[in-house]
Amino acid sequence: MHHSERLAIAFGLVSTPPGTPLRVIKNLRICGDCHNAVKLIAKVTGREIVVRDNKRFHHFGKDGVCSCGDYW
Ligand SMILES: [Zn+2]
Ligand SMILES: [Zn+2]
Repeated sequence: MHHSERLAIAFGLVSTPPGTPLRVIKNLRICGDCHNAVKLIAKVTGREIVVRDNKRFHHFGKDGVCSCGDYW
């Protein structure tokens, strides 16, 4: 299934209290499309989002920037 991380994040957002950091684990590499979407979600919602994919951690901050610097 494509883009499952976005669904997981959407579900995580509604099932956790506002302001708490969100953690999502993905066993495949996050795609560029979702990477952009998650940056936007973090910025719009003001939540920190951490995505663990099969290569590394992505720490999306409230400023809409990812810790990987868009290289992964
Ligand atoms: Zn995707
Ligand atoms: Zn990243």
